[in-house]
Amino acid sequence: MSEKLSRSSYDYLIVGNSTAAISAVEAIRRQDQAGNLAVVSGEPYPAYCTPLISYVLAGKIPESRMNYRRADFYQKMRVTTHLGHAVTEVRPEEHEVVLDDGAALGYGKLLLACGGAPIVPDLPGADLGGVFTFTRYADVARVRSWVQEHGVQEHGVQEAVVIGGGMIGVKAAEALQHLELRTTMVELLDRILAQALDERGSVLAQRALETAGVRVLTSRGAASLPGEEGRVNGVRLDTGALLPAQMVIVAIGVLPNTSLAAEAGVAVNRGVLVDDHMRTSLPDVYAAGDVAEGYDMLLGESRPIAIWPSAYLQGEVAGTNMAGGDQPFHGSVAMNSIQVCGLPTISVGLTEPARAEEVLEYNSPDGQNYRRLFLRDNRIIGAVFVGDIDRAGIITGLIREEIDVSEFKQKLIGRELGLLSLPKEYRKHKVMGPGMEV
Ligand SMILES: Cc1cc2nc3c(=O)[nH]c(=O)nc-3n(C[C@H](O)[C@H](O)[C@H](O)COP(=O)(O)OP(=O)(O)OC[C@H]3O[C@@H](n4cnc5c(N)ncnc54)[C@H](O)[C@@H]3O)c2cc1C
Repeated sequence: MSEKLSRSSYDYLIVGNSTAAISAVEAIRRQDQAGNLAVVSGEPYPAYCTPLISYVLAGKIPESRMNYRRADFYQKMRVTTHLGHAVTEVRPEEHEVVLDDGAALGYGKLLLACGGAPIVPDLPGADLGGVFTFTRYADVARVRSWVQEHGVQEHGVQEAVVIGGGMIGVKAAEALQHLELRTTMVELLDRILAQALDERGSVLAQRALETAGVRVLTSRGAASLPGEEGRVNGVRLDTGALLPAQMVIVAIGVLPNTSLAAEAGVAVNRGVLVDDHMRTSLPDVYAAGDVAEGYDMLLGESRPIAIWPSAYLQGEVAGTNMAGGDQPFHGSVAMNSIQVCGLPTISVGLTEPARAEEVLEYNSPDGQNYRRLFLRDNRIIGAVFVGDIDRAGIITGLIREEIDVSEFKQKLIGRELGLLSLPKEYRKHKVMGPGMEV
């Protein structure tokens, strides 16, 4: 394949350098050792672990733990990197992309793994100094230097507001509180983590944040961000109340980065549309990760599922198929694993009670742990774990494999849920693998 392409071209070109991109690189190399391969990313760093950025900001982990792969990864995989250069245009007819410095790179197969971008609301004052989003490594340095530069002055940063009580907002609030800023979280809905947890889980998560010192205001929206001399000094709520703040983090959601694809003529809905081989509507162009719509096994429809494991799996499928393999993507199950100020929580699948025919619940006597399972047609379609999350993997397996649990339902909410709670046949299948007989 390589000989046919000019020197500035690659057999495989990947836009993005995060979860989906890295697993695609690994999958391509499992299939094809010889083809030339490049990644392009607007960010200047080697791939890093996005979910850890709030822990780095809080100083809980060193920057050295951020690397997603070893330092010699690109060299070992023989990947040419174009880091610090965003792709501004895809030209499918020419089989090339254009970078922000005007350079063009040709491709044999192209993977769009360009993820998502934070939603920036159209609020008066959103462009003031001290207002940040928090989704990239560079945001850690921005937030940190704002606190350092302004934190020691007389009118320095003492109070922060986080707008949005989803996963990113919760992580950001926890980090700011850890930096000893008086932190308030403002959430439009009547509970935090509404997309991740059920109501009870939201209450426990809110309590954990409050115990750590974060003030949580639900059913409140931000109306404007007042400021002075170009710097934010508060958040005006839709109730008219003013929360003083010398720093604001806006965390109201992430949307797939679809513009490159859409402008190139790729079919796009909420995310880039892909088939079960992660092919887009254009020949030789694939998409994977947060930018794409993935098949949600439980909903039975495609939608963006912006989580790390799903991005990894989609990247693997895309990479394998780009390099001549044949691996279908069977779909993902939404999953959120969030530690809220030391309180571990995991939710899997569909956790709105209205979607279930039956809800099973376990509460530990000390009130510290609970587990809730949502069932339809004797199959688990969703689960929430708060506190003790050790057995979430077992339940996730039952969800993914759509196992009929009617015979052992009650054991699933027993105190000691373990593999032994499951029928012998299922255990055998787990140990020996599907289809194996003993
Ligand atoms: C703060 C935070 C915490 C999170 N915590 C969790 C968690 O605990 N668990 C979990 O499952 N998920 C978590 N997520 C979500 C998870 O990080 C994402 O689902 C995952 O990173 C998606 O990977 P991706 O490869 O699709 O895209 P992204 O990680 O979004 O990466 C996209 C890449 O594309 C590059 N790029 C974008 N546009 C261009 C362009 N035009 N040209 C060149 N390069 C471009 C970017 O620089 C980047 O390298 C978290 C996300 C954030 C922001």
